[in-house]
Amino acid sequence: SEANFEFDLIVIGAGYGGFDAAKHAAEHGLSVAIIESREMGGTCVNRGCVPSKALLAASGKVRELADAEHLSSFGIHAAPVRFERRKIAEHANQLVKNIRNNLTKALERSGVKILRGYGRIEGTQKVGLRESNGVDRLISAKDIVIATGSDPFVPPGIETDGRTVFTSDEAINLEWLPRWIAIIGSGYIGLEFADVYTALGCEVTMIEALERVMPTFDTDIAKIAGRNLIQGRDIDARAGVLASKVSPGCPVKIELSDVKNRELLEELEVDAVLVATGRVPTSAGLNLESVGVKTNRGYIPIDDSMRVLVDGKPLKNLWAVGDVTGKLMLAHTAAAQGTVAVDNILGKNREIDYRSIPAATFTHPEISSVGMAESEAKEFAEKNNFELGIVRSYFKANSKALAELESDGLMKLLFRKDNGEVLGAHIYGLHAADLIQEVANAVARRQKVNELAIEVHTHPTLSEVIEVAYKQAVAQLKQS
Ligand code: FAD
Repeated sequence: SEANFEFDLIVIGAGYGGFDAAKHAAEHGLSVAIIESREMGGTCVNRGCVPSKALLAASGKVRELADAEHLSSFGIHAAPVRFERRKIAEHANQLVKNIRNNLTKALERSGVKILRGYGRIEGTQKVGLRESNGVDRLISAKDIVIATGSDPFVPPGIETDGRTVFTSDEAINLEWLPRWIAIIGSGYIGLEFADVYTALGCEVTMIEALERVMPTFDTDIAKIAGRNLIQGRDIDARAGVLASKVSPGCPVKIELSDVKNRELLEELEVDAVLVATGRVPTSAGLNLESVGVKTNRGYIPIDDSMRVLVDGKPLKNLWAVGDVTGKLMLAHTAAAQGTVAVDNILGKNREIDYRSIPAATFTHPEISSVGMAESEAKEFAEKNNFELGIVRSYFKANSKALAELESDGLMKLLFRKDNGEVLGAHIYGLHAADLIQEVANAVARRQKVNELAIEVHTHPTLSEVIEVAYKQAVAQLKQS
């Protein structure tokens, strides 16, 4: 007989993943509870996308106004730039509050019950809730969605105090501006904060353990972007060295070691250290063992319908979405996964297509990508016996970019030479984060360069960089 459940759906974690799942379910008539132990909105709203983009908006304006050479090329001569750190921080803080309130209200309006406290799994259809006041409750639901997100990863040897050695969790508060900051890690978070700190006058040293700076980016893109975003900003970037020991204080002491033999190479003394070495899933306290789920370094294994896997087999009523699943850890991925999970709960048969999910780094200028990396595409081409097509389209050939005096940029397009299908794209240049969407849509629809190249683009716009790439690709198809 059908058991009596308190809710149709319980969602654990109110970040973007949990928010979208809960709202979507409530709007489709399910009774929904969402459990959150910290602030509503999760990482993105409180400690991630939202405040970091507010800081980057400010740094972009400072950068533009402070670049006298750039302005004078337009015949503009501005007074020296002055900025107030406190106001920049306040803008970010206020934005966080507004978005958090809007999001909470939207959940309430759609009828979602918000439960404040810590949730853990007590069976595939039961959740133990430790309320903020310490009271324990057991609640049941037909389905459970886990959306507990991720936290900053701090490598061994690095000690944080939140004040002189900190992660993005604290950096977003911009409480003080160090004269000299070392950023450990050159992924997108490290790069975005380097953009902010250099614009605000800090000296930046960047430490990357892998062989090259910006290791997660396409090599060509990293080369051209790095010339501007790293060398152009006088960032002292060191790749292939390990920050093996970091001790907070005044000054902060950093030991740099050889990655391979751990031999001490150098000691640095700086005012502050930002640890931007990736993120780890928040799953340790969830009691997943009780339902037989074995995590992979903390990540919850799922299939493409978001069902949690036990020994490779999907469970019926337990779902996981967002950063805790380790798939393209971005806010819009989490949200998309949340919607897909609920659609499946509602009986629709949906899977997620990770290949068409774009990613962006909001430096000035921006970097973006969708689909396959070149190495991945090469492997795919070899396995499937076709030739990989690669074309490059430059912003310096684009009228709009030239008019803006922002012609530093490159788009690299990867496509199948046998049938013209777009496999991926990587863009560095003005508004790259917005530009990538056009290619993402093409990847989602498995479109081919022949049909894309005849679509008319507005002139003059940056989107013509993409049109040129498609046209070059068609020319390559004709040649082969
Ligand atoms: P989270 O947002 O981490 O939310 C999980 C929530 O679950 C948290 O609120 C947590 O308190 C709660 N929780 C955890 N365990 C429990 C429990 N047991 N009981 C109750 N509650 C629990 N992404 C982008 O797409 N674009 C960007 O520009 C971008 N910029 C970023 C900048 C920075 C500095 C950082 C750190 C991240 C950025 N991201 C960005 C990534 C983005 O923030 C994450 O991908 C996104 O927040 C993941 O959403 P989520 O719902 O999976 O998890």
